[in-house]
Amino acid sequence: MGFTELVETQRKYFRTGVTKPVQFRKEQLLKLKKFIEENREALSEAVWKDLRRRHESTEILEIGMTIGEIDYFLKNIDDWVKPTHVEKTFTTALDKPVIEKDPKGVVLIVSPWNYPVSMILLPMVPALAAGNTVVIKPSELSENVAATFEKLIPKYFEPKYVAVVNGGIPETTDLLEERFDHILYTGCPPVAKIIMTAAAKHLTPVTLELGGKCPVVVEDDTDIDISAKRIAWGKWLNCGQTCLAPDYILVNSTVKPKLVAAIRKYINEFYGENVKASKDYARIINQRHFDRITGLLEKTQGATLIGGESDRADLFIPPTVLDVEKNDPFMHDEIFGPVLPIITVKSFSESLEYIADGEKPLAAYIFTKNEAKVKRLLNETSSGGVTVNDVLMHITGTFTRKLTYFLDTLPFGGVGVSGMGRYRGKFGFDTFTHEKSVLHRGFFGESLQASRYPPLNQQKLDQMRKLTGKRISLNLINVATLPIVMASFVFGMLFQSCSRRREDD
Ligand code: NAD
Repeated sequence: MGFTELVETQRKYFRTGVTKPVQFRKEQLLKLKKFIEENREALSEAVWKDLRRRHESTEILEIGMTIGEIDYFLKNIDDWVKPTHVEKTFTTALDKPVIEKDPKGVVLIVSPWNYPVSMILLPMVPALAAGNTVVIKPSELSENVAATFEKLIPKYFEPKYVAVVNGGIPETTDLLEERFDHILYTGCPPVAKIIMTAAAKHLTPVTLELGGKCPVVVEDDTDIDISAKRIAWGKWLNCGQTCLAPDYILVNSTVKPKLVAAIRKYINEFYGENVKASKDYARIINQRHFDRITGLLEKTQGATLIGGESDRADLFIPPTVLDVEKNDPFMHDEIFGPVLPIITVKSFSESLEYIADGEKPLAAYIFTKNEAKVKRLLNETSSGGVTVNDVLMHITGTFTRKLTYFLDTLPFGGVGVSGMGRYRGKFGFDTFTHEKSVLHRGFFGESLQASRYPPLNQQKLDQMRKLTGKRISLNLINVATLPIVMASFVFGMLFQSCSRRREDD
């Protein structure tokens, strides 16, 4: 099927209205859960082939998290689909203003390779829950996961409802010619510009989930040991190929040696003396990215504090910590690999200025026991999110309802070059939903409306001013509406007869 035909088929299916009832949506979420549960081994195995990430890690970070998200949606969807009632104004006291939750239509999800399963499924959950059809475009770099989705998804969903399109830049470019009703792209800022440009041709709304250089500020009043442990975990998880991974550290010269020693200790504890042999240490996705990172290692002027031999054939780069200046080659773009530069600062203010001078990151991290410093970081810097005294943990997601490991109530998204829009949990449902404003009116109380009809005059203007700005709170609707409306009705009748009398005179 060509892309035009595919999108037309999905739009036609969407227009039948089949995807709208909440019961249908729940059934599809359960089907998606079944797909994951029945194929968790195949999915984990595909991730292992693409990234050499161990199954247990994929189970926690991708599969469990997605199942948890589905369960969370199943628990809440009945409430989320309900129209929301809103406060009324005086002139609409008899009416029913509501926000209807309309699905948008045909959604395109373009995914990256670093968490290749969840970066498809986590946006797919809210897109389906919101009543849309979905076209998935997995990353061609995580080719095993892409092939697994292409093979297995049709066993659970028909292409008119969920379709997988595989391919690289040419295929994605062609696909982007089509008109979608929403595009969610996860990847890097340069490609995001291409996506947004293509979407602009159709005025299609976009959600852009991007990356950036996530800073870590370590202050001298912190618990160095726990801070180092958490930083080391978040940095070398998935071999540093995590959008929220610590990108660099800002620390003063007194704390630096202690921090580096503690980081070395935890690298050892997590991955052993021989990191290459550790099952917990993943690999770089491909040789292009390997060459990009090792190219920077050749150019850096920084001193290597922790590191070792890389191996191109094995796509292995060990956990590496560098002591760098602010203008080091590693400090230009997101590193997205296992290298952690440390910049030495003289003061906390210098750290904040450095962050604020750069592009807005997806996350900022601070380790301190001083609440005033936390407040300053929150006030003086902008980032998609912040975790205080840890890394990554503000990310929204659950590891099954029984064990909510991460949070599931915060929105996830960037700001500036780190992204646009947000999703996860209710925020994801809202992203793929059009909130349609609907005002239901009857034919009673026409006198309340008298002041809007021509011919306009001063009295009508005065009446409008009297009515303007008066609100009827949601809680009072039932109790207060009737007397207020009756009073307004009488007021309107009197006003009309006075106006008529004056006109007769
Ligand atoms: P990638 O190269 O796999 O690209 C992502 C998608 O864009 C792929 O499906 C690819 O086919 C498509 N694509 C690539 N070039 C294209 C082009 N010229 N035209 C049209 N489509 C194109 O992944 P990536 O961009 O290397 O991903 C890594 C980036 O993603 C990092 O910056 C990381 O921080 C970010 N990321 C962000 C999140 C988040 O949730 N915010 C999650 C994961 C990764």
